[in-house]
Amino acid sequence: MAILSIRVYPDPVLRERAAEVTDFGVETQMFFENMIETMREADGVGLAAPQVGVSKRILVASPAGKKGTALVIVNPVLREGIGTEIAQEGCLSFPGLYADIVRFKKIRLEFQDRAGKPRETELRDFFARVVQHELDHLNAVLMIDRIEFNKRQEWAESFKKAPSRPG
Ligand SMILES: [Zn+2]
Repeated sequence: MAILSIRVYPDPVLRERAAEVTDFGVETQMFFENMIETMREADGVGLAAPQVGVSKRILVASPAGKKGTALVIVNPVLREGIGTEIAQEGCLSFPGLYADIVRFKKIRLEFQDRAGKPRETELRDFFARVVQHELDHLNAVLMIDRIEFNKRQEWAESFKKAPSRPG
C-alpha cells in the first residue's frame, strides 16, 4: 500500500468532472486500499479520487474516523435528498478552511461497491454529509462554491427581514 499525495486547491484536477469506473481489477482494488490509507494518514473522514489526482468516480468514507470501517463507493448517484441541515465542514484540499455548508440531512444513494456490485443505501446526518461532500468532488464542485451559495442565502434572508420602506 502507499500514501498518495493530496492535491490542494487550485490544482486543476479538482475542477475536472470525474469519469465513470468500469474496471474493478487488481489495480483498481489496490487504488481503493491506497485511498483508504491516505485518508486515514491525513486524519480525514472522506476522500475523493480527484483529490489524489485521479479523475474517476470513486470515494472512500470513514465517518467514525480511524477506528471505523472505511466504505468504498464507486459511481455514486444521489437519488433523493430529504431535509437540510447546516454544519461546519473542512476539506483536505483546503487545509485550514472551515465553513458552514448546507447539505441534505438524509440521502438515498445508488452506487457500486468495491467489487462492482450495484447497491442502494440510505444515509443520514454526518455520514450523509461526508458522502455529499465527496460526491461534489466527483462533479468538480468545491466547498468554496457552496460557501458562496450559503452567503447568497444569508443575504436573501437578511433582505427578507429588513423593514419595508415606503416608495
Ligand atoms: Zn473535500
